[in-house]
Amino acid sequence: MASLAGDPVTQLRGVGPKLAEKLAEAGIHRVEDLLFHLPLRYQDRTRITPIAAVREGDDVVVEGEVRIADVAFGRRRSLVVRLQDGSGTLTLRFFHFSAAQKNALQAGTRLRCYGQVRRGASGAEMYHPEYRRVEEGESSVEDTLTPVYPTINGLGQQQWRNLCGQAVTRLRGAAPPELLPPLADFPIGLVDALSFLHAPPPDAPVAALRDGEHPAQLRLALEELVAHQLSLQDLRALQQREGAPALRQGEALLQQFLAGLPFSPTAAQQRVIGEIRADLAEPRPMLRLVQGDVGSGKTLVAAAAALLAIASGYQVAVMAPTEILAEQHRRNFSAWFEPLGIAIGWLSGRSKGRARSQALAAIASGEAGLIIGTHALFQEDVAFQRLGLVIVDEQHRFGVHQRLTLTEKAGAEVGRPHQLVMTATPIPRTLAMVAYADLDCSVIDELPPGRKPVDTVLIDNKRRDQVVARVAAACSSGRQAYWVCTLVEESDVLQAQAAEATAEELRTALPQLRVGLIHGRLKSAEKDAVMTGFKAGELDLLVATTVIEVGVDVPNASLMIIENPERLGLAQLHQLRGRVGRGDTASHCVLLYQSPLSRNGKQRLGAMRASNDGFFIAEKDLELRGPGEVLGTRQTGLMEFRVARLPEHNHLLDRVQAIAGEIQARQPQLAGPLVRRWTGSSQRYAKV
Ligand code: ADP
Ligand code: MG
Repeated sequence: MASLAGDPVTQLRGVGPKLAEKLAEAGIHRVEDLLFHLPLRYQDRTRITPIAAVREGDDVVVEGEVRIADVAFGRRRSLVVRLQDGSGTLTLRFFHFSAAQKNALQAGTRLRCYGQVRRGASGAEMYHPEYRRVEEGESSVEDTLTPVYPTINGLGQQQWRNLCGQAVTRLRGAAPPELLPPLADFPIGLVDALSFLHAPPPDAPVAALRDGEHPAQLRLALEELVAHQLSLQDLRALQQREGAPALRQGEALLQQFLAGLPFSPTAAQQRVIGEIRADLAEPRPMLRLVQGDVGSGKTLVAAAAALLAIASGYQVAVMAPTEILAEQHRRNFSAWFEPLGIAIGWLSGRSKGRARSQALAAIASGEAGLIIGTHALFQEDVAFQRLGLVIVDEQHRFGVHQRLTLTEKAGAEVGRPHQLVMTATPIPRTLAMVAYADLDCSVIDELPPGRKPVDTVLIDNKRRDQVVARVAAACSSGRQAYWVCTLVEESDVLQAQAAEATAEELRTALPQLRVGLIHGRLKSAEKDAVMTGFKAGELDLLVATTVIEVGVDVPNASLMIIENPERLGLAQLHQLRGRVGRGDTASHCVLLYQSPLSRNGKQRLGAMRASNDGFFIAEKDLELRGPGEVLGTRQTGLMEFRVARLPEHNHLLDRVQAIAGEIQARQPQLAGPLVRRWTGSSQRYAKV
């Protein structure tokens, strides 16, 4: 009985070459891999619930006799089956059904059904339950909770249950090895945890399983998080094995630059600049994340880093996720650097023809010292002469791999450039530990002096008139205001139309005000003109789409209205609100919501009203929307775990760090097998 669990999946009953291929695509090659394909949740089919005892929302098994089966012609034609047991009657409703199906459901037929109970026109109902005919007294309800697996590659529940079931049966003979150091305080080991979670007994605590709190889940979540941590650290080690240029010049230039600013850097900015300076002086690549609340002055820190690299004779690339943000950086950096004699290159998706080829030439020849751009910087024909530092703003919209692509363009003999990543939104500490384990972290934990918290209120759109009056009052006393229109649609066109309509409405309602309009469809020059006008006080009210989330800095604007704030995530709302509260008057933010608000919506907007602290808000966002949304990686699957859940399993994270550290120090040979076990083929690191 050697390592049966290590056998190829084709050893299992019913697995031919075709199925094996499908499984391989899902990263499942060996029987052992199936053990780590864990259920998402469970159904309880271990007992039959009397009809009188079912409650709305429950997933239950009921059994009874068909009293009548008939087609009802309501708003939608449906087959309605009345099922009765000794205790009561339940209606089964089928919107799609065949004649044969109807005929098989004659009065007197005994059925066992599984489904969710809902409240319908005739009391308790089930829509499209799973059902089968049974004989009176037939026993054999399931003897374990029924696992529901993630359905990958079109494989259905029955198939997964069958395959994982077979894998669990073999587990006893040849268990996968424990790879974690002994965990004295965990009551359950790897093998028991795996077999429990694939087939929990009928008396298993359903609520704990649902909430991810069962000891078996905690044991595996711990291991999964350790594996994730190790894989990121591995990625880091791989990069650091390559050399990077040691950038040790530029102190004088930096001092000259700082002395020319109208303010002095905060202590936090100075500390972070110091951390970066120390990293850059090393002959291996810096991998550093800078976090700081909105308005904490991350751009200045980035500029300081750029100066040090440029003065040391290297190029610097600044990459932003949107055109607007890139343009904002272009404006800032031009104003700061051109007086110092540094040439700035620009490359966006809209750079075409001659402008583009000139930019490419300046990048390739080294004439451009600082290059600012969007995703366009990743394109194949972009080649740098001597790229020494990559600065990525708002990392969470770029994948790890995009960042790496850029660092491969450094130019001959340079090695890997240093990397500085800035997040526009604070990331909860716990999540940062997991998501950015490949980076060192600096926090700008101080705002420039004189910032006042923004007073935030929630107002129902039914009282829109009052809000319009409030705008009038603020503007007539010399203040300026933003009115932000939001749409869920990603479409620029629809967003622009909504903003245009709102601008029209407000121009009519407030003829005495100068109303400007900005959205993503305007040409750069038009956007510039509107922004410059607003900044110069030539406009009182600026109607905008969420494009102003980044890149707008007008201290005299002290009122912001956000329409339909319930549609946005907390991080984005916090970014938007960060556009006011930059001057010396008290600022206000009105969240003009559409009632009724969902429970979650109420909680989110409540958090906005309660706090101005970006880190607090980020924690709330994580709690209410989950890590994928907070990091903007939901689509990339970057933060999708099998058992681990954040923030529910935050309490494990200190342990995770300690164990990962111990493995690296004492048993580095375990890291590879652990990572492979949990990240499948670990494809996403394969390219590095
Ligand atoms: P964020 O961290 O949100 O990217 P920015 O870098 O855009 O913030 O800075 C916000 C504003 O604060 C800018 O107008 C910037 O010039 C200003 N600022 C940055 N650092 C300081 C400072 N130390 N003192 C005063 N104002 C500062
Ligand atoms: Mg910024």
